[in-house]
Amino acid sequence: MSDVDTHCPYCALQCGTRLSGGRADTVRVRPSDFPVNRGRLCQKGWTAPEVLSAVDRLTRPLVRGPDGRLVEASWDTALDVVADGLREIRARHGPDAVAVFGGGGLTNEKAYLLGKFARLALGTSQIDYNGRFCMSSAAAAGTAAFGVDRGLPFPVTDLRGARTVLLAGANIAETMPPLMQHLEQARLIVVDPRRSATARRAALHLQPAPGTDLALALGLVHIAIVEGLVDQSYVDERCHGFAAAARRAMAWWPERVEGTTGVPASAQRQAVRMLAESRDSYILTGRGVEQHSKGADTVSGFINLALALGLPGRTGSGYGCLTGQGNGQGGREHGQKADQLPGYRSITDPAARAHVASVWGVAPEDLPGPGRGAYELLDALGTPQGPRALLVFGSNPAVSAPRAAHVTERLAALDLLVVADFVPSETAAMAHVVLPVTQWAEEEGTMTNLEGRVLRRRQALSPPPGVRGDLRVLRDLAVRLGEPASRYPSAPREVFDELRAASRGGKADYSGISYQRLDAGEALHWPCPDTRHPGTPRLFLDRFAHPDGKARFWEVDHREAAEETSPEFPLHATTGRVLAHYQSGAQTRRVAELVEAVGAPFVEVHPDTAARSGLLDGGRALITSARGAMTAQVRLDATMRLDTVFVPFHFPGDGRANLVTNPALDPRSGMPEFKVCAVRIAPTQE
Ligand code: SF4
Repeated sequence: MSDVDTHCPYCALQCGTRLSGGRADTVRVRPSDFPVNRGRLCQKGWTAPEVLSAVDRLTRPLVRGPDGRLVEASWDTALDVVADGLREIRARHGPDAVAVFGGGGLTNEKAYLLGKFARLALGTSQIDYNGRFCMSSAAAAGTAAFGVDRGLPFPVTDLRGARTVLLAGANIAETMPPLMQHLEQARLIVVDPRRSATARRAALHLQPAPGTDLALALGLVHIAIVEGLVDQSYVDERCHGFAAAARRAMAWWPERVEGTTGVPASAQRQAVRMLAESRDSYILTGRGVEQHSKGADTVSGFINLALALGLPGRTGSGYGCLTGQGNGQGGREHGQKADQLPGYRSITDPAARAHVASVWGVAPEDLPGPGRGAYELLDALGTPQGPRALLVFGSNPAVSAPRAAHVTERLAALDLLVVADFVPSETAAMAHVVLPVTQWAEEEGTMTNLEGRVLRRRQALSPPPGVRGDLRVLRDLAVRLGEPASRYPSAPREVFDELRAASRGGKADYSGISYQRLDAGEALHWPCPDTRHPGTPRLFLDRFAHPDGKARFWEVDHREAAEETSPEFPLHATTGRVLAHYQSGAQTRRVAELVEAVGAPFVEVHPDTAARSGLLDGGRALITSARGAMTAQVRLDATMRLDTVFVPFHFPGDGRANLVTNPALDPRSGMPEFKVCAVRIAPTQE
């Protein structure tokens, strides 16, 4: 096999890779000189080929038999079981009794066809995806401020010119290590309750109590106003709403912020002065400030700071969100979100409905309306008003959803659970039907990375016999449900061409991007409205995407976390990722080197907190919240806050961090509060 240029299967940085070898057990990966990674990969990227030959790789459809066991079946049998089940449930309970749960790792083509399949073949409004748990707060805040949300509205390489970068809730030294090379010249200000690997490299680490980042953001705006650091001409010319946002911020003077967050007033002042000292500053947010019941408001708070300092919409400075999942950006643009149609269009917008309906060859009234957001959808499964059947593509909600024991119960209450995956995830293990599908190096398609750059995923080897592509699976199911085959192309290029037409005129306009242009090496960032358009690597330079071209300050005020500590649950628990693992760990827990690096759940605890709780370094701990309990090995860490413990969320079974997390939802985004809940911790033998 000749070398194949493609991209890492994991995070939104989408590092460029070159694959050689040609067989699942011999394929080798090397980093390519792609701009975001420039010859580097992280540990996950280097070991990604191992998942291709995972010993428990799914290669045959599985159907649950009368004795309750999953047994191998032919594709025809499995698809017939699924289609018969869907038809029966729909006939008995209506189209919304069938639901679909997608993923932010699916290619653009899969995300697009999944949305179309749900709305046309199933006729259901009940579709959402795991990106609701990842990106939704930043998306809501970005859209409110700028008129459109694109993770980074500038290329990653622009960060090389930064003098100061504030990272709010982003631990990129572990989650996206190759990105760090672009920040080597910058002074980092890191906002994180935990002294993360990134915080350890920072010039300034602000360590707020979990759930208080919004108070901190308000306080930073306050300081900018009081110290005369607001870029008033920028605010007057390019923004609306400063006065109302400023009024809120003026109530958050540094000492009050210190009392609420624990961040010293002097450090707050230092942070704002560093950001305002020169033009070339950036503010970047990540899941740490976004995964809260006020996550969208918190991001708005940091965007307000960026606008006050005049950073967005200029070359050499800006605001951006560090998208998490591999196709977290494209995954939210093409119609697998409950409230959106392809092109990043609102599903309630009559013009958007008319356009997409015309591309799909149906009437606008044939398209269902908005459905439930991800957690609400999972919470409703198997209830009298909720879906009775669920199709899961590219997601593992039994591990990754908040209040995981409850979500597992809801999955178990379904009449029909169908999971399409390439490894037997914890959700697949519960399914009535499991469909074995291709993974990254076995398929063609496109992904859109955190810069809004559309990338080609290329096939480097044949899938194992018995495995099918998701696009073909969707078409075969659609045909069994009475749809014309011609409505569901299964060649990725054809699907992409239809996606381009569906996105035309939308906020995320892909209509000028083609496989041909991408294969010729063009760097194309959306929007790209025609085939001669060079794409848009930098957004907002002339105008923001609101009709009047101006950005909006969003009036926000601090509020407490949905669950505060109490005598029964005296500590905050916060969750996050580690270098060796990705998302629910379904892929990375199958890689020996990564398991050797971190093979089991752990909890980071301050030694004094541990001593008070009777915990020993290396011992077992039971972490209990109002929703359930998890077990983990104790790691003492003197840099932890005394009031906080940290648990990674990549592990299954009793080690699921989401057994304790709080599903309190952000009213603007539907994001659950993964990043703070109240717990107690005690030694255990389990
Ligand atoms: Fe893959 Fe992300 Fe690591 Fe790059 S940083 S190698 S894209 S996991």
